[in-house]
Amino acid sequence: MTTTAQAYGSASPSSKLAPLQIARREPGPTDVQMEILFCGVCHSDVHTARGEWPGTNYACVPGHEIVGRVTAIGAKVTKLKVGDIGATGCLVDSCRTCPSCQRGLEQFCLTGATFTYNSPDQHLGGHTLGGYSSSIVVDEAFTLRVPQGMDLAATAPLLCAGITTYSPLRHWKVGPGQKVGIVGLGGLGHMGVKLDRAFGAHVVLFTTSPS
Ligand SMILES: [Zn+2]
Ligand SMILES: [Zn+2]
Repeated sequence: MTTTAQAYGSASPSSKLAPLQIARREPGPTDVQMEILFCGVCHSDVHTARGEWPGTNYACVPGHEIVGRVTAIGAKVTKLKVGDIGATGCLVDSCRTCPSCQRGLEQFCLTGATFTYNSPDQHLGGHTLGGYSSSIVVDEAFTLRVPQGMDLAATAPLLCAGITTYSPLRHWKVGPGQKVGIVGLGGLGHMGVKLDRAFGAHVVLFTTSPS
């Protein structure tokens, strides 16, 4: 059984995003169904839709900075309940058993993590379709709960740009007394500025734009 969602996708490397209908699975026991409220636009979306990286499957529905309202949950779901605000980033599944997954590093899954779009869809066949759509169904292990009071539009970019910058800054223990240089105030750059500032570092932004 599937439900139909409205989406924006590209039919070929040269075609613009256009409305299309896609199928989403019915929530299984550990699945969360979300009505998507906001989805960030990551440059990976553009690269994939345009076929600028090898291996884009069409029709391509990008989007992996997803924030949505939970509309249904499976019987075994404990992390989220209907009406909560949930979020999903770049991954929707992995093998869960390999050494990488066991260490919480699902992005390095030895059998290949399932990315939010353009990965083999283990449930419906074909390839996964991302957040430029009206709804999505994701295993709860690959969801996050968004705290109340967040600006949801501003929350969406945390799901890729945010973690992409947060992770190395934590890895290198950036904090007071350190200087961090950031090249470009783009999707990742603006996150880097805000995170470095929050960590107490001295932040220097390099930009070609006078503004
Ligand atoms: Zn991204
Ligand atoms: Zn794995």
